[in-house]
Amino acid sequence: MAHIGIVGGGIIGCATALHLLEQGHQVTVIERDAGGLPASVGNAGILAVPEIDPIARPGMLLSAPKWLLDPLGPLTVRWGDLPALMPWLSRFLLASRPSQVARSREALLFLMKTAEADHHAMGEIAGVTGHIRRTGAMTIFDTVAARDKAFTHEAENARLVGCNVETLDAAETRRRIPALKGNFAGAVYNDGYQTFEYPLTLLRRLQATLRERATFIDAAVTSAERGTDGITVRTGAQNAHLFDKAVITAGVWSKTLVERLGLHVHLETERGYNTTFVNPSLTLEMPVFFSEHGFVATPFENALRVGGAVELAKPETAANYARAGAMRRKMRRYVPDLPEDGGTEWMGRRPSTPDSLPVIGLHPGDTRIAFAFGHGHLGLTLSATTGRHVANLLAGTGDQGLAPFSIARFQ
Ligand SMILES: Cc1cc2nc3c(=O)[nH]c(=O)nc-3n(C[C@H](O)[C@H](O)[C@H](O)COP(=O)(O)OP(=O)(O)OC[C@H]3O[C@@H](n4cnc5c(N)ncnc54)[C@H](O)[C@@H]3O)c2cc1C
Repeated sequence: MAHIGIVGGGIIGCATALHLLEQGHQVTVIERDAGGLPASVGNAGILAVPEIDPIARPGMLLSAPKWLLDPLGPLTVRWGDLPALMPWLSRFLLASRPSQVARSREALLFLMKTAEADHHAMGEIAGVTGHIRRTGAMTIFDTVAARDKAFTHEAENARLVGCNVETLDAAETRRRIPALKGNFAGAVYNDGYQTFEYPLTLLRRLQATLRERATFIDAAVTSAERGTDGITVRTGAQNAHLFDKAVITAGVWSKTLVERLGLHVHLETERGYNTTFVNPSLTLEMPVFFSEHGFVATPFENALRVGGAVELAKPETAANYARAGAMRRKMRRYVPDLPEDGGTEWMGRRPSTPDSLPVIGLHPGDTRIAFAFGHGHLGLTLSATTGRHVANLLAGTGDQGLAPFSIARFQ
């Protein structure tokens, strides 16, 4: 059995560490901000198995110009960061070709098929049960035409992933979710979505298990280097940790570590914003997507979280929390009882690749190093599946279906 270092203790790092422990390895997780609030903590908490469409696709490109006109709308670019984002954006445009969209859909479907079972299995490894609720999810539309167009596509995806969708008029939608008192034309209900317990609680429970069963080092990794006697992971000039193998799971910050390993990856930040109301005065019976406006509202046990949208920006660019307020105001059109103020605003960084496929694979020149990052909008959903695959890859039993996720596609 090997001693394996994991760089980054977000949901992907934790899932990978748990699977490696399960295979009997000695595991060390190095996390620079264990009490922090990365994407893995503030996300919408949805097990989104029906979402097998990449973000870059022809329909999305048609909507983008209209969205970009509204600086607080579903999609924005921090224009000062545009030069740095250009290589990623050019690959994003190329990824919207129908042939690549079809490849990405097929690859995402491969991961999604086991996502739910993998989460239950990972829960068992970590001693966590009852953390996923079968809620389904509702998507609200302003026009019947938009609803029916979305239904046709969702029904096709549902057939592939094995779930069911229904079209509903506004009255039936309100019967199922009474808080939706505002005006809308109808909805699509999809029973393939599930809701996690609060994402912060889940991550802290996984991290707590790792603190008991693995070594958890609170430090920032500056580089991972290949040597004849192992992989040296440095946490500052003086501190070096020698491992037999290492996994890079540092979210969007993986890019720099990958470059120091002599490889390249197109990885940028699709930032999202949200507001969390604790002990809210209103409830939703399930997550509600306001897809035409690019956000979602998720009900947790004692909280309601409203947010989403995409802001392309460098990771370190200052947050613009007006975006969180804009989504609250839009939601009040549909849910007039939603409080305007009183919630906690948050910004998180989705680590995103242009083709919406995460990087899950081994270093092409060194099978002692694995990569697991770039899960974009779906990192919570795909975390347990990724962890299982990475453990198998390092054991030399990687699945053939992982070929589209290789880092080699960027070289
Ligand atoms: C608004 C929003 C809503 C979302 N909703 C959903 C959803 O409903 N369902 C879903 O499936 N996904 C969702 N996502 C996506 C999901 O949250 C992410 O894909 C996922 O959390 C990425 O996990 P990660 O572990 O790769 O990255 P992160 O959560 O960013 O974790 C990376 C970790 O690495 C650490 N790190 C970085 N660099 C270093 C270093 N040099 N040394 C040591 N540690 C380091 C960081 O401190 C961090 O803890 C959402 C994301 C956002 C922003």
